[in-house]
Amino acid sequence: MGLHDAADLPAMKTNPKFIFFTDFDGTITLQDSNDFLTDTIGYGRERRRHMNIECLDDRISFRDSFRDMMDSVKRPYNECIQYLVDNIKLDPYFKEFFEWSLKENVPVVVLSSGMEPAIKALLEKLVGPEAEKMQVLGNYAGARPGKSIDEEGGWEILFRHPESGFGHDKSVTLREYSSLPADVRPTMFYAGDGVSDLSAARETDLLFAKKGHDLISYCAREDIPFTVFEDWSTILARCKEITAGKSTVQDAAKEGWEAYKAGAAGVKPTA
Ligand SMILES: [Mg+2]
Repeated sequence: MGLHDAADLPAMKTNPKFIFFTDFDGTITLQDSNDFLTDTIGYGRERRRHMNIECLDDRISFRDSFRDMMDSVKRPYNECIQYLVDNIKLDPYFKEFFEWSLKENVPVVVLSSGMEPAIKALLEKLVGPEAEKMQVLGNYAGARPGKSIDEEGGWEILFRHPESGFGHDKSVTLREYSSLPADVRPTMFYAGDGVSDLSAARETDLLFAKKGHDLISYCAREDIPFTVFEDWSTILARCKEITAGKSTVQDAAKEGWEAYKAGAAGVKPTA
């Protein structure tokens, strides 16, 4: 991974000092849309949670656990998207954060293990036409051999990085930015909540991990600095302080660790 040219990176077009990378499901949305599909029209919550734990404990790759879940969803793809648009809600403060980011030249880049068509449909419905200004990098969906994507049992998940156990290895994009020369490299934020964020957790300057979710336990176990967020109002307040120079990413990470140790991160701290 050598140095990259800033001109090749879409989020560098406006020479930002800060970039906000973020997970989509369960982070921008209140509910994980893929969990929702699996739990309600796939094989159900029990097996899905089992697969999440297997993945967190390193017994199965994220890619294989996620394919297993998506394979259990047989409904035509267009109907799945409509079903999500009808049911999935946005974090109530995300829109305010996004409006602030547009004003302050902090590009938002969505890095998701979900499927791009579903994410774009949800963002357009929930954020409006401005959502186009967010770069979205995810996985894809395609027709199974001999089938149409919009027929029963007709689609399957197609991974951005099929050779990687992450399916979409979020570190690939993050390193394109983190390897920029120091004088142009922006400060990088990342927000996430769960197993799909493990490939991103070590790659940015400040990781926001969602209170009470799997990513916190993982970061604590692996000694990865993070700060806790409950919703995007916490993230917005933090980002305002940091971009105004009133606090630093190091202060935020230190407070996050202390909150976790004090039991305020919504997961049980380990000794
Ligand atoms: Mg997530």
